[in-house]
Amino acid sequence: MFRFNFLQIPDWVTVKTCYFRYFGPCMNALHRQSHTCDSICQYFAAIAALLTCSVTLAGNTAIEPTDNSEAPAAAEQLIDSVTPLDESVPLAKAVTSADGQAKSMRLLDTDIAPGTARRLSWSATQLFEGVPVSTPVLVVNGTHPGPTLCLTAAIHGDELNGIEMVQRVLHDIDPQKLSGAIIGVPIVNVQSFRRGSRYLPDRRDLNRYFPGNPNGSAAARIAHAFFTDIITHCDALVDLHTGSFERTNLPQIRADLRNPDVVTLTLGFGSMVVLHNKPAAGTLRHAATMAGIPTVTVEAGGPSQLELAEVKHGVKGIKILLTTLGMVKKRRLWGDPEPVYYRSSWVRADNGGILLAHVSLGSTVRKGDLLGTITDPMNNARTELRSPYAGRIIGMARNQVVMPGFATFHVGIQTDRAVVDDMQIDAARISNEGGYVDGMSE
Ligand SMILES: [Zn+2]
Repeated sequence: MFRFNFLQIPDWVTVKTCYFRYFGPCMNALHRQSHTCDSICQYFAAIAALLTCSVTLAGNTAIEPTDNSEAPAAAEQLIDSVTPLDESVPLAKAVTSADGQAKSMRLLDTDIAPGTARRLSWSATQLFEGVPVSTPVLVVNGTHPGPTLCLTAAIHGDELNGIEMVQRVLHDIDPQKLSGAIIGVPIVNVQSFRRGSRYLPDRRDLNRYFPGNPNGSAAARIAHAFFTDIITHCDALVDLHTGSFERTNLPQIRADLRNPDVVTLTLGFGSMVVLHNKPAAGTLRHAATMAGIPTVTVEAGGPSQLELAEVKHGVKGIKILLTTLGMVKKRRLWGDPEPVYYRSSWVRADNGGILLAHVSLGSTVRKGDLLGTITDPMNNARTELRSPYAGRIIGMARNQVVMPGFATFHVGIQTDRAVVDDMQIDAARISNEGGYVDGMSE
């Protein structure tokens, strides 16, 4: 929320903040000839706003226009709202206590010297065809000491957005300016990726078998090899996913906020919606966190397509995380914090037919609002889907033919206060028939 004060001469920090809010986006829009700023009047309005506005953070420390002395501190809040890190938390300690000399990293039988980047190759030992299939592992080892952050994508082989996110982050990092190391695996499940499928060739979901078993099923063996060879080298992990089965997700972090290290990691992303939930057993998020490696899942977009807006959103969040973890010095601004949803629920179709959405990802809805319609293709009868909750659309099915019971809209539910106890979470799940939607829990 911004408060305008046309009588006040703004200080430098206020001008800088306003630039990113008003003038920067307007200039970018003009350069792209988009409709975001589609008149020259708005262009000048942005200049006027830039010169005259004072910023007030919604719900946070208010900056009264008459009190210039507090403006710099509050503007800094946009950048440093999660720092300094709480050193009682192990992840924060790993970040803040890193000093001395950077060390050479040994991964996949390869030494990676500080200040260098390497492209390695990993393959599980047991494969279906008996032919080794390798997948790239990108490593950047910084000149300065710090934590090792891992990025993994395409554990489900049809989820493409995360692949592009890992590529963009890793190829944009200068090892000379990095503290710590980043390990990026763009395509973890190369067997599924080659088939364009969520599943392994035996229909198993790899993300239900971590940390794996060297003597178990094919999925368990692949999971074990990956966990042992790569994941054990991480201090923190971000696992990238999309919705599944023609469903798409608003870019969001899924995190177990009862774990202080996971909270540290989650807050580091800046402005991204957070959905609190416990990871399912067998997921990489669950196994890594149990092994002492704080992990969050980032969900963005849907399967089988490369969605540039979602990719950019994810890349921006990860880059801000690198900054808040102290791994990259560059400061970045990214607007107001997004809300944390402690409850969410799927709205299911009661009738079969063709779904047509009336809301979009990110829409704010009130109780009773129309979410979409389902039309019976035989008799053209139309039924309405209305929201049983006030909240926000954080996931939804693409327009398609649906059966009765199909999960259509995922509503992040507004709650009055942040309660992260099991009782409330479980109650929310029970109210939603267990809350489980196949393929939607990573
Ligand atoms: Zn997934």
